[in-house]
Amino acid sequence: MSKIICDFCGATDSIDNPVIAGDNASICKSCVGAANEIMNGAIDENSNITTSEDVQEEVKLRTPAQLKAILDEYVIGQDTAKKVLSVAVYNHYKRIFRHHEIDDDTELNKSNVLLIGPTGSGKTLLAQTISKYLDVPLAIADATSLTEAGYVGDDVENVVTRLVQAAGGDIQKAQRGIIFIDEVDKVARMSENRSITRDVSGEGVQQALLKIVEGAVVNVPAKGGRKHPGQDALQVDTTNILFVCGGAFDGLEDIIKKKEGANVLGFNQDKKDKKESKELLSKVETDDLVKYGLIPELIGRLHMLATLNEITEDDMVHILTEPKNALIKQYIKLFEMDDVKLVFEKDALKELAKLAIERKTGARGLRSILEDIMLDIMFDLPNYKDKTITITKNVVLKIEEPKIG
Ligand code: ADP
Repeated sequence: MSKIICDFCGATDSIDNPVIAGDNASICKSCVGAANEIMNGAIDENSNITTSEDVQEEVKLRTPAQLKAILDEYVIGQDTAKKVLSVAVYNHYKRIFRHHEIDDDTELNKSNVLLIGPTGSGKTLLAQTISKYLDVPLAIADATSLTEAGYVGDDVENVVTRLVQAAGGDIQKAQRGIIFIDEVDKVARMSENRSITRDVSGEGVQQALLKIVEGAVVNVPAKGGRKHPGQDALQVDTTNILFVCGGAFDGLEDIIKKKEGANVLGFNQDKKDKKESKELLSKVETDDLVKYGLIPELIGRLHMLATLNEITEDDMVHILTEPKNALIKQYIKLFEMDDVKLVFEKDALKELAKLAIERKTGARGLRSILEDIMLDIMFDLPNYKDKTITITKNVVLKIEEPKIG
């Protein structure tokens, strides 16, 4: 029997893409979807044909509130940063996909983001979560590693290559992706305000970054990997790539404080505590970042600023238990698969949080602390079928074995 074929695109009938046969014509599932979008007005301004890719991208546009709700499922606290990022991402994709809706000559600038917050406070996690839920590719790079190569510009461009790889080689998709550059504070140029010695080439990296943040056409090797002569190159336009930069910016408070100094004169300066430093950081302005050592042109391109708070002990407990992929939830599931019930006492969670705080690596430390404690129990897990294993504070402190009942 001959296969039914879609009269619109020529696809043959399959389980994934079934074709409906009418009296005089047939149509497949994906063409029905595309037709539906066209009828709803999603028509490409130039060609009057909506490509399936555009339809797909349009569908994934989310409102800032929807984006924040997604972030809330995975990231604890950091409300301001979530809001800033949600708005930036919304504006970014609105600018790409809907710029033609209002016909005037107002140009919409790209809203790249700078996240300022201590290590392990969720900067990378925010970018990862957004990229996953918008289904846009993400490349993560550490600004400090960009100084290591002799040819700085070349190296920065490798980040774009990584984005193309994350997009599975799809240039169109990569051109709408997200690049997260961590530790930008570490490539700040030396400023007279601070005595930290650092690589003078930091400014060179910033210049190279600026080029791709502003929008440049970058040649990437067609087969991925490093460039070498004779290999075919693909051209990637970075104009519509969203850049999210992150950094801890140690010492930034001092710069802000100096500026604020005139206003707080007479205040009891001795009573500075963490809360004060948090409040100070939230007052950061672009000129403080110039003083810190970022070049004004780069800051000018990262105009959405957000600060993240240091993770507190309470936050740590929430991080352990609440997000959709919370570590404790993952262990409970792993144990369940072996028909073992796993219970963490409250004090045990608090102790885990305390240990992580001591490591000074933010919430990043939680995983390795927990893995260390759980290793022996996991090793013997299949022997504990239908039992309940309780992790107490003393188990975390390694002075007791877990209770098995
Ligand atoms: P950084 O701010 O240094 O980029 P990350 O986002 O890489 O920190 O955080 C490291 C890990 O710590 C994350 O993968 C996540 O497991 C955990 N984490 C950090 N901050 C949070 C948070 N606010 N909510 C939930 N998990 C967090």
